[in-house]
Amino acid sequence: PQQFDWDHSKKTIAILGSGWAATSLLKELDTEHYNVIVVSPRNYFLFTPLLPSTTVGTVELRSIMMPMRYITRFKERAVAFVEGVCNEIDTKNKILVVEDNSEIVGEVSKQNIPYDYLVVACGAENATFGIPGVKDYACFLKEAWDAKKIRTRLMDCMETAAFAGQTEKEVERLLHMVVVGGGPTGVEYAAELYDFLKEDLASWYPEIAPKIKITLVEALPHVLPSFSKELITYTEKHFAEAKMSILSNTMVKEVKQKELVVQNPQKEIEHIPYGLLVWATGNTARPVVADLIKKLSPALQNQRRGLVVDEYLKVKGVDDVYALGDASATKWAPTAQVASKQGVYIAGIFNQLGRINADRHAIMADGQDPNVVAAQRIKPFDYEHLGALAYIGSDKAIADLPGNVHIGGALTFWFWRSAYLNNLFSLRNRVLVAFDWGKKSLFGRDISRE
Ligand code: FAD
Ligand code: NAD
Repeated sequence: PQQFDWDHSKKTIAILGSGWAATSLLKELDTEHYNVIVVSPRNYFLFTPLLPSTTVGTVELRSIMMPMRYITRFKERAVAFVEGVCNEIDTKNKILVVEDNSEIVGEVSKQNIPYDYLVVACGAENATFGIPGVKDYACFLKEAWDAKKIRTRLMDCMETAAFAGQTEKEVERLLHMVVVGGGPTGVEYAAELYDFLKEDLASWYPEIAPKIKITLVEALPHVLPSFSKELITYTEKHFAEAKMSILSNTMVKEVKQKELVVQNPQKEIEHIPYGLLVWATGNTARPVVADLIKKLSPALQNQRRGLVVDEYLKVKGVDDVYALGDASATKWAPTAQVASKQGVYIAGIFNQLGRINADRHAIMADGQDPNVVAAQRIKPFDYEHLGALAYIGSDKAIADLPGNVHIGGALTFWFWRSAYLNNLFSLRNRVLVAFDWGKKSLFGRDISRE
């Protein structure tokens, strides 16, 4: 594209996304050897582990965001950033079709971006399993705007329930907060909501706060299926003590504007009225990824949740395309930890290839084949799991750590806090989050409805 400082003697790497995989790749990439262009519908990185905290104001949204231009402007050679959605990948002609889908569009709202190498790091979408009404009535919890919507709706439920003249039944419905999906997202959201209720809403809305009910609906027999048995029991006990209901073995069949239709463990249909519904049942492939999967050989691309890659994270069945993080289907769980390590790995591959290409003549003069040198230097992706952490409410957290260590409680909460503080993108983010925690302890959370 003309507006960028393009060096035509260099290869172009296009990166889809500004999430965990894309930013860790960008941080490590030596841009000396390439033209680099990043395409993403949002112009910032979002620290998702603290996203549940932003739904109730324990942490403010902007404290966990980092503008992409902070990263792209300060690389060795500036990296181009395009705020837009990639809707189509033409792997034959090596072109991306990108559209500006924001509210304000200029005279031009579509562009084709050529690439030599493509890194698909555009994450995943929320799975709804085609259940009717989910997209119309439920809130998701994946993006910054989801957290904002939840915070607004929650306060709307509170104020509407406090509106004089509501029937008892309607107040009960408005104050029923339902979370579908007992994975870490659903559990952490319910935990934050519980803290908000106990620490703030109870004193600001003393008449109605005791009527607030939090219910977690889970299709399997237990919540947190990826955690150890001890920590599952610990969490379920903690939820029971806090009077948060867990409806396990319960499948949602339909979502209506004011009620959920579920199949209970006895296989009977039940109707559950709700005021706020948060949907957190895991991931499915984004349309652009699903479209690419369809274009490739079904024998090689046989996973609906993402692109199948080889041990070097190259997408099977197509040249020069890599897939990382939640956009790929691998044996690892779709987590930030995996995505960021994959980003660092791919940066390492590009850095090696860039150096080998730059030293090409010297390598050949030495009697070696640059391709053989590259094959020797580039090792398959290897992942070392550092453990999983989750917040469960009342200043308690759980941690599954390597070496079969499973811990939970108040000390783990401080471990959780320090681990997340340490992992935040920049010093600026760390200071902002620490201030938010301090502010909450001093003044409580803000209950304004934006
Ligand atoms: P993402 O981080 O989702 O980034 C995808 C990027 O692609 C975004 O910038 C998006 O805007 C962009 N994009 C979307 N569509 C397009 C398109 N068509 N074209 C171009 N760009 C596009 N994992 C952990 O390890 N620990 C945790 O504590 C943890 N907590 C979580 C809490 C919540 C609430 C959630 C939702 C997830 C959590 N995860 C956690 C999981 C983790 O966030 C994901 O696994 C991780 O974000 C995946 O990284 P990614 O780069 O693949 O995708
Ligand atoms: P998940 O896939 O981990 O869990 C989804 C849950 O929803 C499952 O327990 C599933 O049985 C349930 N479910 C599915 N369909 C249902 C239905 N119709 N009715 C009721 N329940 C249903 O999803 P998630 O929690 O969004 O997490 C996504 C990924 O992000 C995972 O890899 C997770 O590990 C990661 N993550 C990690 C953390 C953390 O480490 N603290 C926090 C959030 C997310």
